[in-house]
Amino acid sequence: MTRKTVVTSVPVLDLMPSPQPAGSGVDNKCGRCTRSICCNSINQQVPTPRSKSDFDHLLWQVAHEGINLFKDSDGWFLHIESRCAHLQPGGFCGIYEKRPEVCRDYSNDFCELDESIPEGSELFFSTYAQLDAYCRARFKQWDKRFD
Ligand code: SF4
Ligand code: SF4
Repeated sequence: MTRKTVVTSVPVLDLMPSPQPAGSGVDNKCGRCTRSICCNSINQQVPTPRSKSDFDHLLWQVAHEGINLFKDSDGWFLHIESRCAHLQPGGFCGIYEKRPEVCRDYSNDFCELDESIPEGSELFFSTYAQLDAYCRARFKQWDKRFD
C-alpha cells in the first residue's frame, strides 16, 4: 500500500503555522511546504475500469483541465486539482477549528511532499493522449468501440 490510504479524500492535515523551533519536537514539515499540495487537490476513488466503455468515460474526464487519473495499490482514483476555498496565504487553514474530519485524520508522516502522486502510482494519466495510448495497448480494437 502506498501513502495514498484515503479513499474519498481531501488529503489534508494539521497545518503547522510556521517552522517550529529546533528541538521543539514538532515536525515543521508543513511550515516548509510552500505549495500546500494536500489542500490543492482531491483524490476520489472510482470503480476499477474494465471495459472499453469504462475507459472511454475516463477519457472524457481526463480531457478536462485539472483532472488526472491514477492507479495504485488501493485502486483507481481521479486526482482533481482544485484549491480548497479555506486555504489561506501562508498555508493556514481558514476553518482550522471546524475543518472536516478527513483533514483532521490526514497525517504528514509521508505525504505528497515526500513522493508525488505520479511518482508513487503504478499508472498516472494527466492527458487524453496518455490515456488513449494506454487504451490502444490494452484493447486490440479500441477504435471500433463505437461500432
Ligand atoms: S503536502 Fe505534506 S508537507 Fe505540504 S502541507 Fe500537505 S501534509 Fe504538509
Ligand atoms: S479545510 Fe483547511 S485543512 Fe481542509 S483542505 Fe481546506 S484548507 Fe486544507
